[in-house]
Amino acid sequence: MRKNRQVLTVRCRQDNYAYLLPLDDGTCLLIDAPEAAPIVSRLAAEGLRLRAILLTHHHGDHVEGVEALRAPGVEVIGAAADAHRLPPLDRAVAPGEEVEVGGLSLRVLDAPGHTIGHVAYHVAARSALFSGDSLMVHGCGRLFEGTPAQMQASIAAMDRLPEDTAIFSGHDYAEANLAFAATMAPDPGALARRHAALALCADEGWPTTGVTLAEDRALNPYLRVHLPQVQAAVDMPGAEPVAVLAEIRRRKDRF
Ligand SMILES: [Zn+2]
Repeated sequence: MRKNRQVLTVRCRQDNYAYLLPLDDGTCLLIDAPEAAPIVSRLAAEGLRLRAILLTHHHGDHVEGVEALRAPGVEVIGAAADAHRLPPLDRAVAPGEEVEVGGLSLRVLDAPGHTIGHVAYHVAARSALFSGDSLMVHGCGRLFEGTPAQMQASIAAMDRLPEDTAIFSGHDYAEANLAFAATMAPDPGALARRHAALALCADEGWPTTGVTLAEDRALNPYLRVHLPQVQAAVDMPGAEPVAVLAEIRRRKDRF
Protein backbone atom coordinates (compact mmCIF):
# COMPACT_ATOMS: atom_id res chain seq x y z
CA MET A 1 0.00 0.00 0.00
CA ARG A 2 1.43 3.36 -1.03
CA LYS A 3 0.68 6.01 1.57
CA ASN A 4 0.78 9.74 1.29
CA ARG A 5 4.45 10.34 2.07
CA GLN A 6 4.15 14.12 2.24
CA VAL A 7 3.31 14.44 5.93
CA LEU A 8 3.00 11.57 8.41
CA THR A 9 1.05 12.23 11.59
CA VAL A 10 2.16 10.62 14.86
CA ARG A 11 -0.15 10.61 17.86
CA CYS A 12 1.67 11.26 21.13
CA ARG A 13 0.72 11.56 24.80
CA GLN A 14 -2.91 12.32 25.50
CA ASP A 15 -3.83 14.46 22.52
CA ASN A 16 -0.61 15.75 20.89
CA TYR A 17 0.44 15.38 17.29
CA ALA A 18 4.00 15.20 15.98
CA TYR A 19 4.70 15.17 12.25
CA LEU A 20 7.28 13.44 10.06
CA LEU A 21 8.28 14.84 6.68
CA PRO A 22 10.04 12.09 4.72
CA LEU A 23 12.83 13.15 2.36
CA ASP A 24 14.03 11.30 -0.74
CA ASP A 25 17.12 9.80 0.94
CA GLY A 26 15.27 7.81 3.62
CA THR A 27 15.68 10.47 6.28
CA CYS A 28 12.95 12.71 7.62
CA LEU A 29 12.24 15.86 9.55
CA LEU A 30 10.23 15.81 12.75
CA ILE A 31 8.03 18.71 13.84
CA ASP A 32 7.85 18.78 17.65
CA ALA A 33 8.80 15.95 19.99
CA PRO A 34 6.06 15.44 22.61
CA GLU A 35 7.52 12.06 23.62
CA ALA A 36 10.00 9.67 22.02
CA ALA A 37 8.36 6.21 22.05
CA PRO A 38 5.61 6.63 19.44
CA ILE A 39 7.99 8.57 17.20
CA VAL A 40 10.69 5.90 17.44
CA SER A 41 8.23 3.15 16.57
CA ARG A 42 6.80 5.11 13.65
CA LEU A 43 10.31 5.77 12.29
CA ALA A 44 11.01 2.03 12.46
CA ALA A 45 7.68 1.13 10.84
CA GLU A 46 8.31 3.56 7.98
CA GLY A 47 11.99 2.68 7.62
CA LEU A 48 12.98 6.31 8.17
CA ARG A 49 15.96 7.89 9.92
CA LEU A 50 15.67 11.17 11.74
CA ARG A 51 17.61 14.08 10.26
CA ALA A 52 16.26 17.08 12.14
CA ILE A 53 13.80 18.06 14.86
CA LEU A 54 12.05 21.42 14.42
CA LEU A 55 10.40 22.86 17.52
CA THR A 56 7.44 25.25 17.57
CA HIS A 57 7.57 26.33 21.23
CA HIS A 58 8.96 25.54 24.64
CA HIS A 59 6.06 23.71 26.33
CA GLY A 60 6.97 20.31 27.73
CA ASP A 61 4.38 18.49 25.65
CA HIS A 62 6.22 19.67 22.51
CA VAL A 63 9.86 19.16 23.54
CA GLU A 64 10.10 16.39 26.13
CA GLY A 65 11.04 13.77 23.55
CA VAL A 66 14.01 15.73 22.20
CA GLU A 67 16.80 14.34 24.40
CA ALA A 68 15.79 10.71 23.79
CA LEU A 69 15.75 11.35 20.03
CA ARG A 70 18.94 13.43 19.93
CA ALA A 71 21.74 11.58 18.12
CA PRO A 72 24.72 12.35 15.88
CA GLY A 73 23.37 13.61 12.58
CA VAL A 74 20.09 14.79 14.09
CA GLU A 75 19.89 18.57 14.08
CA VAL A 76 17.70 20.24 16.69
CA ILE A 77 16.22 23.49 15.36
CA GLY A 78 14.14 26.10 17.15
CA ALA A 79 13.55 29.80 17.65
CA ALA A 80 16.59 31.89 18.62
CA ALA A 81 14.31 34.07 20.75
CA ASP A 82 13.37 31.04 22.87
CA ALA A 83 16.77 29.30 22.88
CA HIS A 84 17.13 29.91 26.63
CA ARG A 85 14.14 27.70 27.43
CA LEU A 86 14.15 25.20 24.57
CA PRO A 87 16.33 22.08 24.63
CA PRO A 88 19.87 22.93 23.41
CA LEU A 89 19.62 23.93 19.73
CA ASP A 90 22.02 23.01 16.95
CA ARG A 91 20.48 25.71 14.81
CA ALA A 92 18.64 28.79 16.09
CA VAL A 93 16.31 30.39 13.57
CA ALA A 94 14.37 33.63 13.35
CA PRO A 95 10.99 34.53 11.85
CA GLY A 96 11.21 35.32 8.16
CA GLU A 97 14.12 32.96 7.70
CA GLU A 98 14.03 30.20 5.10
CA VAL A 99 15.44 27.03 6.74
CA GLU A 100 16.94 24.46 4.39
CA VAL A 101 17.19 20.88 5.67
CA GLY A 102 18.00 17.96 3.40
CA GLY A 103 16.87 19.87 0.33
CA LEU A 104 13.52 20.83 1.83
CA SER A 105 12.84 24.47 2.52
CA LEU A 106 10.76 25.66 5.50
CA ARG A 107 9.85 29.29 6.12
CA VAL A 108 9.84 30.32 9.76
CA LEU A 109 6.77 32.37 10.73
CA ASP A 110 6.49 34.48 13.85
CA ALA A 111 3.56 33.05 15.83
CA PRO A 112 3.42 34.58 19.32
CA GLY A 113 0.25 34.55 21.42
CA HIS A 114 0.10 31.08 23.02
CA THR A 115 3.70 31.70 24.10
CA ILE A 116 6.17 34.44 23.25
CA GLY A 117 8.81 33.08 20.90
CA HIS A 118 6.41 30.59 19.34
CA VAL A 119 7.18 29.93 15.67
CA ALA A 120 5.39 28.08 12.89
CA TYR A 121 6.92 26.42 9.82
CA HIS A 122 5.47 26.78 6.34
CA VAL A 123 6.59 24.14 3.86
CA ALA A 124 5.44 25.48 0.49
CA ALA A 125 6.63 22.39 -1.39
CA ARG A 126 4.13 20.30 0.59
CA SER A 127 1.41 22.95 1.01
CA ALA A 128 1.74 22.44 4.74
CA LEU A 129 1.76 24.74 7.77
CA PHE A 130 3.02 23.40 11.08
CA SER A 131 1.44 25.84 13.47
CA GLY A 132 2.00 24.23 16.89
CA ASP A 133 -0.41 25.79 19.38
CA SER A 134 -0.97 29.08 17.54
CA LEU A 135 -3.50 28.68 14.73
CA MET A 136 -5.17 25.31 15.26
CA VAL A 137 -7.69 23.38 13.21
CA HIS A 138 -11.02 25.19 13.87
CA GLY A 139 -9.47 27.25 16.68
CA CYS A 140 -6.32 28.68 18.22
CA GLY A 141 -4.19 27.98 21.28
CA ARG A 142 -4.80 29.50 24.67
CA LEU A 143 -3.16 32.87 25.38
CA PHE A 144 -0.69 31.84 28.09
CA GLU A 145 2.02 34.45 27.52
CA GLY A 146 1.00 36.68 24.64
CA THR A 147 -1.74 39.20 23.98
CA PRO A 148 -4.82 38.99 21.75
CA ALA A 149 -3.08 41.46 19.42
CA GLN A 150 -0.11 39.14 19.05
CA MET A 151 -2.33 36.12 18.34
CA GLN A 152 -4.37 38.18 15.90
CA ALA A 153 -1.20 39.20 14.00
CA SER A 154 0.09 35.60 14.04
CA ILE A 155 -3.15 34.25 12.62
CA ALA A 156 -3.51 37.07 10.08
CA ALA A 157 -0.03 36.28 8.72
CA MET A 158 -0.91 32.59 8.37
CA ASP A 159 -4.19 33.53 6.72
CA ARG A 160 -2.14 35.11 3.91
CA LEU A 161 -0.71 31.71 2.93
CA PRO A 162 -2.16 29.96 -0.14
CA GLU A 163 -5.67 28.64 0.49
CA ASP A 164 -4.69 25.03 -0.24
CA THR A 165 -2.23 25.10 2.69
CA ALA A 166 -3.04 22.30 5.14
CA ILE A 167 -2.98 23.25 8.83
CA PHE A 168 -1.10 20.71 10.96
CA SER A 169 -1.51 21.87 14.55
CA GLY A 170 -0.01 20.48 17.75
CA HIS A 171 -3.09 18.89 19.28
CA ASP A 172 -6.12 16.80 18.48
CA TYR A 173 -8.59 19.53 19.43
CA ALA A 174 -10.59 19.62 16.21
CA GLU A 175 -13.77 18.19 17.70
CA ALA A 176 -13.83 20.46 20.77
CA ASN A 177 -12.87 23.46 18.64
CA LEU A 178 -15.61 22.68 16.14
CA ALA A 179 -18.22 22.41 18.92
CA PHE A 180 -17.31 25.95 19.95
CA ALA A 181 -16.98 27.20 16.36
CA ALA A 182 -20.54 26.00 15.77
CA THR A 183 -21.70 28.78 18.15
CA MET A 184 -19.75 31.45 16.21
CA ALA A 185 -21.77 31.69 12.97
CA PRO A 186 -19.81 29.25 10.81
CA ASP A 187 -20.78 28.44 7.23
CA PRO A 188 -23.57 25.82 7.72
CA GLY A 189 -22.57 23.68 4.75
CA ALA A 190 -18.92 23.57 5.80
CA LEU A 191 -19.97 22.74 9.37
CA ALA A 192 -22.09 19.80 8.24
CA ARG A 193 -19.32 18.48 5.98
CA ARG A 194 -16.76 18.75 8.75
CA HIS A 195 -19.00 17.03 11.31
CA ALA A 196 -19.29 14.12 8.89
CA ALA A 197 -15.53 14.08 8.29
CA LEU A 198 -14.75 14.08 12.01
CA ALA A 199 -17.19 11.23 12.61
CA LEU A 200 -15.32 9.26 9.98
CA CYS A 201 -11.97 10.17 11.61
CA ALA A 202 -13.30 8.86 14.94
CA ASP A 203 -14.60 5.62 13.37
CA GLU A 204 -11.40 4.92 11.46
CA GLY A 205 -8.92 6.28 14.01
CA TRP A 206 -7.64 8.90 11.55
CA PRO A 207 -5.95 12.11 12.66
CA THR A 208 -8.10 15.23 12.63
CA THR A 209 -5.49 17.72 11.38
CA GLY A 210 -4.53 18.67 7.85
CA VAL A 211 -7.58 20.80 7.16
CA THR A 212 -6.89 23.43 4.51
CA LEU A 213 -7.01 27.15 5.13
CA ALA A 214 -9.81 27.38 2.56
CA GLU A 215 -11.92 24.93 4.58
CA ASP A 216 -11.11 26.52 7.91
CA ARG A 217 -11.90 30.03 6.69
CA ALA A 218 -15.51 28.84 6.63
CA LEU A 219 -15.38 27.54 10.21
CA ASN A 220 -12.58 28.85 12.39
CA PRO A 221 -13.88 31.94 14.26
CA TYR A 222 -10.34 33.31 14.69
CA LEU A 223 -9.97 33.40 10.89
CA ARG A 224 -13.36 35.12 10.63
CA VAL A 225 -13.10 37.99 13.13
CA HIS A 226 -13.67 40.55 10.34
CA LEU A 227 -17.04 39.06 9.32
CA PRO A 228 -20.29 40.78 10.43
CA GLN A 229 -21.98 37.49 11.35
CA VAL A 230 -19.10 36.53 13.67
CA GLN A 231 -19.02 39.99 15.23
CA ALA A 232 -22.78 39.70 15.77
CA ALA A 233 -22.32 36.29 17.44
CA VAL A 234 -20.30 38.01 20.19
CA ASP A 235 -22.48 41.16 20.23
CA MET A 236 -19.69 43.33 18.82
CA PRO A 237 -20.88 44.63 15.45
CA GLY A 238 -18.21 46.69 13.70
CA ALA A 239 -15.57 46.06 16.37
CA GLU A 240 -11.85 45.82 15.59
CA PRO A 241 -10.71 42.30 14.67
CA VAL A 242 -8.37 42.14 17.66
CA ALA A 243 -11.18 43.01 20.10
CA VAL A 244 -13.39 40.37 18.48
CA LEU A 245 -10.62 37.79 18.75
CA ALA A 246 -10.07 38.63 22.42
CA GLU A 247 -13.77 38.18 23.14
CA ILE A 248 -14.02 34.91 21.20
CA ARG A 249 -10.97 33.56 23.03
CA ARG A 250 -12.47 34.60 26.40
CA ARG A 251 -15.70 32.79 25.56
CA LYS A 252 -13.81 29.70 24.44
CA ASP A 253 -11.92 29.61 27.75
CA ARG A 254 -15.29 29.36 29.52
CA PHE A 255 -16.94 27.08 26.96
ZN1 LIG B 1 1.73 24.75 24.14
